Amino acid sequence: MPAESFPSLPFEPFKTKVVERIPNPSREEREKALERANYNLFNLKSDEVRIDLLTDSGTGAMSDRQWAALMMGDETYAGSRNFFHFESVVRSITGFPFVLPTHQGRAAENLLFSTLCRPGSIVPNNMHFDTTQAHVLHQGAKPVNLAVAEAYDPVSSEPFKGNVDVDALAKLLDREGREKVPLVMVTITNNTGGGQPVSVANFREVARVAKAHGVPLYLDMCRWAENAYLVREREPGQAGRSIPEIGREFFDLADGATMSAKKDGIVNIGGFVATRDESVFDRLREALILFEGFSTYGGLARRDLEAIAVGLTEATELDYLAHRIGQVRYLASLLEARGVPFFHPVGGHGIYLDVRRFLPHLSDDDLPGQALAVELYREGGVRTVEVGALMFGETLRSGSKGLELVRLAIPRRVYSASHLAYVAEVVARVYERRSTVRGVRMVYRPERLPHFTARFAPK
Ligand SMILES: *Cc1c(COP(=O)(O)O)cnc(C)c1O
Repeated sequence: MPAESFPSLPFEPFKTKVVERIPNPSREEREKALERANYNLFNLKSDEVRIDLLTDSGTGAMSDRQWAALMMGDETYAGSRNFFHFESVVRSITGFPFVLPTHQGRAAENLLFSTLCRPGSIVPNNMHFDTTQAHVLHQGAKPVNLAVAEAYDPVSSEPFKGNVDVDALAKLLDREGREKVPLVMVTITNNTGGGQPVSVANFREVARVAKAHGVPLYLDMCRWAENAYLVREREPGQAGRSIPEIGREFFDLADGATMSAKKDGIVNIGGFVATRDESVFDRLREALILFEGFSTYGGLARRDLEAIAVGLTEATELDYLAHRIGQVRYLASLLEARGVPFFHPVGGHGIYLDVRRFLPHLSDDDLPGQALAVELYREGGVRTVEVGALMFGETLRSGSKGLELVRLAIPRRVYSASHLAYVAEVVARVYERRSTVRGVRMVYRPERLPHFTARFAPK
């Protein structure tokens, strides 16, 4: 086991103003719910879930300042003052002059890939997120994952497992050229591969190679502030810098970005696409108006833009990030004490259980990640998600390279340390009786993004 030091209780840099009751379904109710949901946890109702770690996307708690911002909504169709505030915050964080709001990250992806890709295009990324991969495929283009080899090793304690294999990228660009590769994308942090950060040094190299080939470089910046926090901790020479300064180093090297504000914007809905390229912007804007809405609201209520403007700034505050990442590490320390295997080092937004070591008696055909997620719900009403064969299909997996993980994503500012202790207990209990966990089989498989709507049955 790699040597990592985990902190004790993370201090909450906020206090509670409003509370929400937590449901407590009985064992029988949970069993019934699983049957009704066809063993797909996306089909559970929130009242059937005790602790919801399905995702940290849009599930955070807004601050009093954000709720106050909602009251400042100027619901003008065109030219709302909320848009100009939102635009100025995004510009000041990223330096990208052209900013378009979208209702969430995948809408930004749709605009970007439909604008830049053609059938047969190739899009390299350190690792595509599920919706990113699906949108590249939707254009008839090919997503290629080029993360460093350590990204696929759940045990190695390399500090920057989100990094791109720069040699592999250079070879791909030499071979295919800018005709075939309309953009290079890098995801910070790498959600699919354990929420791992990308270093400034690596991104500089990526930018150098992309530039040498004349290929635009875009960031999937959903978790850019968490990435900057981990860079600040781990990368030599970065310790004294602020989160915005470190972020800016990435943005200055890139041509644009897509963002889900449901992540490091700490809102319940929203996103954007931003670029330096005015001709790309013109095409993005046409597509935005067609699919989302006029360019000063992009499918959102204007009040939402105001809440994003505040949330984007809050997400860069060091006490906020120390608590957020501290929560992930606190849960890790409790799991470590019980011998539960998870992906190392612990990244920005959740724990990723290492399914192959957790359930070694199950084969890939048993869909072990899904089987484990089902079992965690059955044991204690904890909802998680498989990140593996099911989420990513065979498209991007080459034999043993495919990671098989179950993600426990921690919503921002929502759960307390005692909730995390409860989660650790549930996971540890399943781990102690792991040999009793049976596989599942898929009885219905949709063609795209199968994990959302597939149906399963116990084996
Ligand atoms: C969440 C996420 C997306 C997609 O954003 P949505 O708002 O869910 O559509 C894209 N990339 C990454 C890395 C993400 O985490």
